Amino acid sequence: MTTLGTGPAGANGAELSVITPVYNESNNIEALLTRLVPVLERCAASFEIIFVDDGSTDDTLDCLRAAHHTDPRIRALSLSRNFGKEIAIAAGLDHAKGAAAIIIDADLQHPPELIETFVARWREGYKNVFAQRIDRTVYTPFRRILTQRFYKLFGSVGDIRLPEGAGDFRLLDARAVAALRAMREHARFSKGLYAWIGFKSIGVPFDVEARVHGVSKFSYRKLTHLALDGLMSFSTMPLKVWSYIGSATSLLALTLAAVYLTRTIILGVDVPGYASLIVSITFFSGIQLLSLGIIGEYIGRIFAEVKRRPLYLIEERVGIGSPVAADSLARIQTG
Ligand code: UDP
Ligand code: MG
Repeated sequence: MTTLGTGPAGANGAELSVITPVYNESNNIEALLTRLVPVLERCAASFEIIFVDDGSTDDTLDCLRAAHHTDPRIRALSLSRNFGKEIAIAAGLDHAKGAAAIIIDADLQHPPELIETFVARWREGYKNVFAQRIDRTVYTPFRRILTQRFYKLFGSVGDIRLPEGAGDFRLLDARAVAALRAMREHARFSKGLYAWIGFKSIGVPFDVEARVHGVSKFSYRKLTHLALDGLMSFSTMPLKVWSYIGSATSLLALTLAAVYLTRTIILGVDVPGYASLIVSITFFSGIQLLSLGIIGEYIGRIFAEVKRRPLYLIEERVGIGSPVAADSLARIQTG
């Protein structure tokens, strides 16, 4: 059972559970621990660091085993394949028994020193303390523009409001963790889920640092997929918009019909019109296929959810037991 509320320590004795998803990050682990461990020792009575190895193909898992051997507070879960960062975080949250959980990337783009401020805010009573990027210049201008456009679009069609510059780097009180644990959706857009759960939240500004080793694991294809998951999990606008487009085109068709009818009555039948016919047929076929495609995207996501497959499979546990028992929703809702 999770300890709910900001108690001094979680069920396994650790006050803080730090979750780090790792995918081929063997070069970064030592550097991260060198900076992270002293910070945690300064600001928490006790802690555990849960690395979630997201199907790495390098020697990440060996590094984690070695790290656990020298410091048993460092633990690891190894997933059976690469499930993606969002699912890796979900696996970590399922196993986080601390009175608060902290999510941090392994590549040191998230400065571990900020955790001290997170913990201070948590002790003041905040349950959802998120780092807020004020400078993203480490990412390419193209990625920054796309990110900006996405958040603008999400802001206008999404059902929830995402705080600007907030990502996965954050502290979540055990109650917020329990709420996230109850959400078993496969198309996970964590940033949306963090905002959806609410709780007393506060942002802590920071500058994203450059990656220490390696390159970003997010290709533009993965980022597009994540953006679509985000939009479709938190908005039905892409579905609804077709009724407006349909109404507008029907109205246009009726007006055209009236115009042509009047013209034919006055001027007689006019045979030419082949080009306009072809153009309008192809244009409207395109629109219809596009709307079907969007409906298909939603159906595909419904299909993925109704299969009710487990979110992830664990191949190996390093110093870590079974997940926290599913909290009853009633307990989360009533506190
Ligand atoms: N990551 C993961 N699974 C993936 C991709 C990334 O666990 O499929 C981890 C990665 O090891 C890192 C964090 O997620 O700790 C952030 O990834 P990355 O730095 O590549 O993303 P970016 O900073 O470019 O958004
Ligand atoms: Mg990174």
